[in-house]
Amino acid sequence: MAKIQPDEISSIIRKQISNYKKKFKIESIGTVFQIGDGIARIYGLNEAMAGELLEFADGTIGIALNLESRNVGAVMMGQGTNIQEGSIVRATGRIAQIPVGSDFLGRIVDPLARPIDGQGEILSEESRLLESSAPGIIARKSVFESLETGLVAIDSMIPIGKGQRELIIGDRQTGKTAIAVDTILNQKGKSVFCVYVAIGQKASSVAQVVSTLKKQGAMDYTIIVTATADTPATLQYLAPYTGATLAEYFMYRGQHTLVIYDDLSKQAQAYREMSLLLRRPPGREAFPGDVFYLHSRLLERAAKLNDQMGGGSMTALPIVETQEGDVSAYIPTNVISITDGQIFLSADIFNSGIRPAINIGISVSRVGSAAQSKAMKKVAGQLKLELAQFAELEAFSQFSSDLDQTTQNQLARGERLRELLKQPQASPLSLSEQVATIYAGTNGYIDNIPIEKIRSYLIGLRQFLVNTKYSETLEKTKTLDDETTANLLKQCVEDYSKKFRERITEM
Ligand code: ATP
Ligand code: MG
Repeated sequence: MAKIQPDEISSIIRKQISNYKKKFKIESIGTVFQIGDGIARIYGLNEAMAGELLEFADGTIGIALNLESRNVGAVMMGQGTNIQEGSIVRATGRIAQIPVGSDFLGRIVDPLARPIDGQGEILSEESRLLESSAPGIIARKSVFESLETGLVAIDSMIPIGKGQRELIIGDRQTGKTAIAVDTILNQKGKSVFCVYVAIGQKASSVAQVVSTLKKQGAMDYTIIVTATADTPATLQYLAPYTGATLAEYFMYRGQHTLVIYDDLSKQAQAYREMSLLLRRPPGREAFPGDVFYLHSRLLERAAKLNDQMGGGSMTALPIVETQEGDVSAYIPTNVISITDGQIFLSADIFNSGIRPAINIGISVSRVGSAAQSKAMKKVAGQLKLELAQFAELEAFSQFSSDLDQTTQNQLARGERLRELLKQPQASPLSLSEQVATIYAGTNGYIDNIPIEKIRSYLIGLRQFLVNTKYSETLEKTKTLDDETTANLLKQCVEDYSKKFRERITEM
């Protein structure tokens, strides 16, 4: 019989003790006492935080939104059809957050950043809070770099700067989405990462945007966040914050981003639905009292950061839909007051065949002109002035039959300038093309061309400019100040106009 060795035994016991770890986990658990319409009222979660994620028994995730004295009101981000009265709810201790990273580029995700394009998992490098506070005053810098949309009418008269928030507002079917998508297309090769957030739209509309972006090779630098019309209101409410969070990842790394919220009216409606179900008191147009904060805390996250912060930027183009052009409704006035300007699209203009249907008179950009390139600034001033005079004259000339020659000339010029601003979808123009287009218009090169031939004149002009010395120097210097570039431009437009005139007289 082997002798018992006390040393060995005690060492084993000691080892056991040192390896013994108490696994305490305190869980906060509550019980559902009322459920329906995507809202749950929960008893017993006394320590829940506002915005905390809750997990229901069937795995559905909810967010605690109403913290009341005896219960918690939560919205569910899923159907949750199996949840009953008496089901258990677990507080996760986490405020809503999503994974972020550059692997999201080229992907389509839902508002919880889960891929829905069937291309597999997204490897994320880190995660960020869905609701994070906006950069403060010190961390910011004034907007000074331009973000070109590729649309002549916008880049010349309503210029947008990196870090600006510019609202696109108009009735339904007036080309709001088209402007936003064109702007994404124009960022190709410009190191601007884009996020397109589709809220409450038809799945077919979203599919169309995706196919345009794919066809033009713009998906490589774009993330799409989508909550279509059939998703629960909670997800539609969250989608813009998800978009902002995905973009912030790039912004805080010193890169440039562009976020499009298409559209915030639908988000406000989703929020109204949630709030009414949570029995929050309704206010104007039945929206809850904090609907201004809903949009201001989102749009304040767009910024141009200073150099210590890396110099990144987030430009936001929120879209708002109006009814019958009424900009004085609740949501339009709110968002107009939050943003740095608006591009107003009008149904009348759209129907009269002018597209993009921008109403220049009431569209503004409050900070963008500081960012406009010198070359564009030089030619745009004249364009703006002549268009304004034209608008006045046109209204006035409707009542008189015989007009003097000067007035007739001015009207002819105005009609042609308006023609210049028309632009088909998905065909953004470079700076040199835009400057030459405006230059030709305001310097009288198209005054004698019949209106119906202007389109072909412009197409020809743009082809003529390819690989010219003018285009090369302008794209490099972005100014027209020095005599050489201005002369090159003049020479180009003159040569081409002569050729064009010969061609149409031959016909
Ligand atoms: P909704 O209110 O449905 O979201 P919307 O205001 O976003 O509409 P779009 O879907 O962008 O409008 O455009 C409406 C229609 O106008 C589309 O059929 C589109 O192809 C057409 N359209 C938009 N811009 C142009 C353009 N510049 N040239 C020609 N057609 C255009
Ligand atoms: Mg649209």
